Amino acid sequence: MSHSVCLTYDFDAVSGWTSAGMPEYRSWGVYGAETCVPRLLDLHDRTGVSSTWFVPGHTIESFPEAAGAIHDRGHEIQHHGWSHDPLPSFDSRDAERRDFVRGIEAIEELTGEPPTGFRNPAGGFSEHTVDLLREFGFEWDSSGTERDLRPYYLREPGTVEHDRPYRRGDRTGIVTVPVPWHRDDWLQLFPVASDPQFVSYGHEPDVFHRWRTELEWMRDHVEEGVLTLLLHPQCAGRAPFVAELEAFIEDVTDLDDTGFADVSTVAASFRS
Ligand SMILES: [Zn+2]
Repeated sequence: MSHSVCLTYDFDAVSGWTSAGMPEYRSWGVYGAETCVPRLLDLHDRTGVSSTWFVPGHTIESFPEAAGAIHDRGHEIQHHGWSHDPLPSFDSRDAERRDFVRGIEAIEELTGEPPTGFRNPAGGFSEHTVDLLREFGFEWDSSGTERDLRPYYLREPGTVEHDRPYRRGDRTGIVTVPVPWHRDDWLQLFPVASDPQFVSYGHEPDVFHRWRTELEWMRDHVEEGVLTLLLHPQCAGRAPFVAELEAFIEDVTDLDDTGFADVSTVAASFRS
């Protein structure tokens, strides 16, 4: 097998809605935890395909049953912050570090192991994030988009000045398994929270058509390609999406040169 598809879930639950103005928005998070996670885990049981879940500590402590089921049914759980607050929103390195440590501790409490991989909550890295990943010995990250169909090594933030060329930062030993925004279900299929009645939902078959086209292109043009999908239970657990995802999984499973892998496996294979 020369190509990999990574199914990854950002299980934000209510942590993604804590700053939303209207309390009923939180019901989306509850729906994700109580209806969609079991539905998706059943799909993975039926198909025998592993996946990677990025779970904020806030979700682990709010929905321990759902988070425990993910672990118990054989899927890896990785770091996604504790509060899910955007990393640049912390007012100091210490504040970001406290949230970071609390997230690690929540995962250790659940799985008995510290996380080895990270995905940033909404909002990107701060100037301190790479440093924190190194301090806590993270092996890989799945946030960046420097490439689209191959892993690469994460770099220091680099420097940007308006009157000088961009200077890239030094390469670290942390592997990035990229996940471009066009492979994020949320951006295509979820209404904008501030004004949901004026934003139409995307069409699930169109989204999967784009991903299938990219998979075919990767198989034709890329050596040892990696196609990573970024899914959110409260979006990907809706019936039309689950039906498309199951058909996609079945079709990929039939391919001789492509298979599903969790992100840790892909990162270790890139490093070796
Ligand atoms: Zn998230």
